[in-house]
Amino acid sequence: MGANNKEYTFVNPYNFIPLGKGRSFVKEESGKKYTGVINYTLKTVTPLFIPNTRSEDAFKMLKKYEKHKSYDFFSYRDLSELEDSVEKELPKPVIPGSEMRGMLRNNYEILTNSCISAVDDETLLSKRTQEKYKAGLLERRVSVKDGKEEVRYRLINVRDDCLLRTEGANNLTDALGCWDEKPGMKGRREWGIKCYIQDSLSEGEKVAFDYKGRDRGKALALNVEKAEKENLGRSIGYLLKGETGPEMKNPSTGLPAKQNKHCAHVFRQPDDVDKQVIRVCRNEDFSQDYLTGILDVVLKLYDKNKAGAYGEYRTEYEKFKEGKGNQFFPVYYSTLSYSGNKVDSLMLSPACITREIYTRMLSDMVGDKKSCEKSGKLCPACALFGTFRDGKESVVSRIRVADLECLEQDNRKCFDAAPVTLQPLAQPRFNPEFYMKKPDKDAVFWTYEYYVDSKGHVHKNMAGVNGRKFYWHHADFKMENCTAEPNKMNKTIRPLKKNIYFLGKIYFHDLSERELNTLCYLVNAGDDEELDKKHHGYKLGAAKPLGFGSVAMQINNVQLRQIVQTENETIDLKEIPYQPDKQNTLVDSQVVEDFQKMTDFKLLSGENVSYPRRHPNDDIFGWFAANHKGYSKNKKTGQNRFVNMPQSRDTMLFDQYLKPMEPKTVTNELGTKLSIKN
Ligand SMILES: [Zn+2]
Repeated sequence: MGANNKEYTFVNPYNFIPLGKGRSFVKEESGKKYTGVINYTLKTVTPLFIPNTRSEDAFKMLKKYEKHKSYDFFSYRDLSELEDSVEKELPKPVIPGSEMRGMLRNNYEILTNSCISAVDDETLLSKRTQEKYKAGLLERRVSVKDGKEEVRYRLINVRDDCLLRTEGANNLTDALGCWDEKPGMKGRREWGIKCYIQDSLSEGEKVAFDYKGRDRGKALALNVEKAEKENLGRSIGYLLKGETGPEMKNPSTGLPAKQNKHCAHVFRQPDDVDKQVIRVCRNEDFSQDYLTGILDVVLKLYDKNKAGAYGEYRTEYEKFKEGKGNQFFPVYYSTLSYSGNKVDSLMLSPACITREIYTRMLSDMVGDKKSCEKSGKLCPACALFGTFRDGKESVVSRIRVADLECLEQDNRKCFDAAPVTLQPLAQPRFNPEFYMKKPDKDAVFWTYEYYVDSKGHVHKNMAGVNGRKFYWHHADFKMENCTAEPNKMNKTIRPLKKNIYFLGKIYFHDLSERELNTLCYLVNAGDDEELDKKHHGYKLGAAKPLGFGSVAMQINNVQLRQIVQTENETIDLKEIPYQPDKQNTLVDSQVVEDFQKMTDFKLLSGENVSYPRRHPNDDIFGWFAANHKGYSKNKKTGQNRFVNMPQSRDTMLFDQYLKPMEPKTVTNELGTKLSIKN
């Protein structure tokens, strides 16, 4: 246990370059303005791939492989009109200027401490934890304030979370006999019974039932029926049926495993509701906006991951919010307390074990590097490449990047004869142990919202992201390490070979001298060696995690365009060569060391750059699952130990995590101690 990678070591394909200290803003610079063009040459150092997206079936593979997409390299050829495979044709490759522009902008942002213009705020940050949520009831309350109706909600502790165990699907007859606890965990027929399917009762239905407590385990709800006027003397509760999960069988007996969803739940209403209110942030109740912000987003995510998931729950919940349902609606909840017993944060879900969704966005975690579009300020990158400010005032770009022209005239020399099928590029995203700074020396587990220390205390997580994401160069790139059999998950492509040369032009307009010199530094990646001897370069195009897209670039010349008046009074355009001044730049010298490491072609010589795996054939999600360990704390002896499954968020532990600019993952101290003890 402990170290995942004793026998198999890897370097994660991406890492983070720390955000430079302070943010630079553009001041109006008086002085000479420069207009002209940078002529440069690009050389592919590993294979490069930029898709021609006009055809998703360029090599006609859909006939043979269902849903398997195939793309040719970018060219001006309109592949959509092509009837046969493009395999025998070799259109002249082109590197689109837009692709180059995006890459240059990213790196200019790094070098000049600019804002992060492309923060992915569309994706909600979430994480599955093993925390078991508690049963609760949402209460809808309407009050009249200044003649206006106002709807507020309260979260109520249930009196009991009772199980509904019946003879089966769409059958409400109690089935006590077959549910008797029996020893032996090798699967049981009962765990295959689907008594949570009851079409006569809707999700959230108010029901009357007989309460039956048990010595062990949750109480039972017997003789469940719709609550009507005449049965209100019985126990009252709200039904939560839930969703079908994956069918699990015990491998040795073939019988259904305990993880199978089998029961439904009845959340019993407390007698004195007012005494069971859970106060959130010291408040008795909360608004509909607050509720929407924490429950609707979870339901949306379930629906996105599996279309229609919790559909009935969503429908009934909407009715409840509109006042067309009952006063109460069942929900699972989890509270976070950062100090003492007061609830600082609330999470809701239709399921007991769930993905937690965080209210913090990536843009909240980049500190002073928040995009100018949102902050209304202007950084060097936005000033040069253009942006919107406050969503209206636009800053016009002062550079234009032309498409790059291939210098190889014989297209056959640019490509291998046959296209290649790549390994799938899908990967677990936004794992906090990779994306976030370790929030505290004593932190053992952290999410975007909170962290847990080695004593099991939960704290608010104020830490930021590790930095700007980038991909390492693969010093020992081998195509055979990238290929796979065609399937639904991967794609077939025709990449450009290494050692292919392109000519490019960057037109600039009204640049200050500092800006022009910084742009020249950028194009050369801060490396003035001649093109074939370059140690530093960038990553361009697709399949970067597999090692594609390493490129070296070198400026051939810079030409300034000046308007001159000739002797006979006509106006002429004159090109004057310009020598960039290497000392005069906007580049942050503190960032340069990391930048050089990031752009170094040979830094990872001899290393296996690959997505985290425990062994060569490992499932791509397996490493992360194994890295999220559980441990149990022995408060008396202080002897903590690993357990197979964590039971709550305060018994979770990241074994390994990523430090910015350190290629290999590092082991959490507590994890190391536990490994030694075991
Ligand atoms: Zn900016």
